[in-house]
Amino acid sequence: MSTDESDPVKTICPYCGVGCGIQVKQGDDPGDVKFMPWADAPVNEGRICIKGGAATQVVNHEDRLTEPLIKEDGEFREATWEEAYDRIVSEMTRIRDTYEPDAMGFFGSSKTMNEENYLLQKIARRYGTNNIDNCTRMCHASTVWALRTSLGAGAMTNSMADLREAGDLFWIQGANPGEQHPIANSQYFRQAVLEGATVIQVDPHANKTTRSFKISESDRHMHLQLNPGTDIPLLNIVIKTILENDWIDEEFIANRTEGFEHLTETLESFDKAAAAEECGVPLEDIELAAEKYAMANNAAIFTGMGMSQHTCGVDNVQNEINLALITGNLGRPGTGVNPLRGQNNVQGTCDVGAMPNVLPGYQLVDDDEARRSVEAVWGFEIPSEPGLTNVEISHEAGRSIHGLYIMGENPIMSEPDANEVAKRFEELEFCVVQDIFMTETARYADVILPATTWAERGGTVTNTDRRVQRMRGVQKVHENTKHDLEILMEIGSRLFGEDGFRFDDVEAVFEELRQVCPSYHGMTYELLGETGLHWPCYELGDEGDPYLYESSFDTENGLGQIEGVRHQPPAEVPDEEYPLILTTARLEEHYNTGTMSRRSPTLNRQHPENFVDIHPNDAARYEIEDGDMVTLRSRRGEIEVKAQVTEAIKEGVIWTTPHFAAASANRLTNDVLDDRAKIPEYKAAAAEIAITVASNGGA
Ligand code: SF4
Repeated sequence: MSTDESDPVKTICPYCGVGCGIQVKQGDDPGDVKFMPWADAPVNEGRICIKGGAATQVVNHEDRLTEPLIKEDGEFREATWEEAYDRIVSEMTRIRDTYEPDAMGFFGSSKTMNEENYLLQKIARRYGTNNIDNCTRMCHASTVWALRTSLGAGAMTNSMADLREAGDLFWIQGANPGEQHPIANSQYFRQAVLEGATVIQVDPHANKTTRSFKISESDRHMHLQLNPGTDIPLLNIVIKTILENDWIDEEFIANRTEGFEHLTETLESFDKAAAAEECGVPLEDIELAAEKYAMANNAAIFTGMGMSQHTCGVDNVQNEINLALITGNLGRPGTGVNPLRGQNNVQGTCDVGAMPNVLPGYQLVDDDEARRSVEAVWGFEIPSEPGLTNVEISHEAGRSIHGLYIMGENPIMSEPDANEVAKRFEELEFCVVQDIFMTETARYADVILPATTWAERGGTVTNTDRRVQRMRGVQKVHENTKHDLEILMEIGSRLFGEDGFRFDDVEAVFEELRQVCPSYHGMTYELLGETGLHWPCYELGDEGDPYLYESSFDTENGLGQIEGVRHQPPAEVPDEEYPLILTTARLEEHYNTGTMSRRSPTLNRQHPENFVDIHPNDAARYEIEDGDMVTLRSRRGEIEVKAQVTEAIKEGVIWTTPHFAAASANRLTNDVLDDRAKIPEYKAAAAEIAITVASNGGA
């Protein structure tokens, strides 16, 4: 897993789902790990954003965990690996014997590699539970659900390269690639825009995407600044406008879809004018955007967490699918419905089965035939009932869940209603955290296992457009840390025996993965080489598909599923006590709970603390000035942040981030879930704001 000290190794940026190739090089001292560009990297061709360029800063950070820790009498003490393993195995065995296998929960990680997540979910299933999940639950579980059931695969239908080459119009709803996927934005989308592509942005917040395409100064592009939680009515206006004007693709609807009548019936008495008022966007603007979408030769939808993180997240994405299907914008380059995935391996973590309802390759756990085919390779029985999602596991902590195994996740900060999550974690009988730093969650652990960082180990990750790429590592910086895979092999072997849990190397794990994951079956480390392969890649020699569904969808009958949906307001709407809508999003310079980015001097300098965006009219009403310290409150907690008075945010809405432990948005967010995908509603909660300390020193 390591290489000659002086040779740079080609690997993948550990941050977002774009999957940019970078190099790392180790100096004479193992701790001296440097970033180097990779000029002909397949995705980014040498370009890099601020996060990628700073990624090596955390590798030898002084806060690294370097020894296993065991908690005794409320305090951590250093322990040997033997002690740590013994404690974990005896506690996991005790919990299974005392209760049942479903009393344990397992959190995989979108920041770790395919092989590691594959082995963790195999351990969970051998233990006897499907209570295994990862943070895709928080970002795109609803997108995956809608895409999988209506089209076939829970992933981008197209790839960044074909979108750049063939896309005429980009409909970007609830996504902010200018901030979250900077290289995709600059290298792919902006290139297409320079060559004439139009951008329609749908978002309550004017952001880096708005600025990067100069949308507000353009006649060609549009920004529809809607109220949070009104995506369904906005898309229904678009769809009804297309139906009224007969801009549909009749042949595509007739030959490739079913459910069109349901959509037309749903919209029969739909009142566009009333819906536009609800959205807070002029009707004629939405109608014009509909015309632009319908008239484009190739129109692509990009969808993000502004769509998925709602109690109606599945329906939000279904309505995007409806729009693409009725206009025939699927199955060709430059089209499709394309979720922009957040973390560098969130796609792969789902692909390899670290989810409670699916096995590797999205084979349903309650499908007897699928389960049998995986059991034939694994040699043990897999539980047939879908398990709990990670938010459900946290809700059940100390109730039906008594033990937790957490690899590289930080639920105390990342989950909604974080104060309650912390309370629940206090009730656990046993918790293991495997990580590189003492995270907010690790403080609740009984055993902490010090893992190596992304730069010190090898494996594969899968980026947002389904490209599986290899990561390669330099030498370990700290002798007594271990690679995630080594740790999992040891735990698995001690619990269940070596057979099926001890592998010669990381490639051997991938070899087993491809036996049980049909869409990865045609890949080997050698074939992945330096460019990687897009899935699906069913047989050796398949080149992988840069875009999906050319001739049919991967649904049972091969047809794309249209289904009309109706507006469902957020679970919490403003009232007298909490008169504002709180919405949340991320910054380019930080990454989720900030475990790594807050420890990177370059990134932290850009944004060392949290803040809230508030519209000037709201600020005037609350007598808040730019720079004042304010308290944000919801029914679940409060945080203190600096106010940023800006017209970028819609009136009546306040906007903040989850990155900073001292004032994380998730102390305020609502943990209500979408019924099907179980994704929380991070994007809309009722809140209030009050001035704490004025910037002029008053209170
Ligand atoms: Fe890394 Fe994403 Fe930036 Fe590329 S765009 S360098 S993958 S953070």
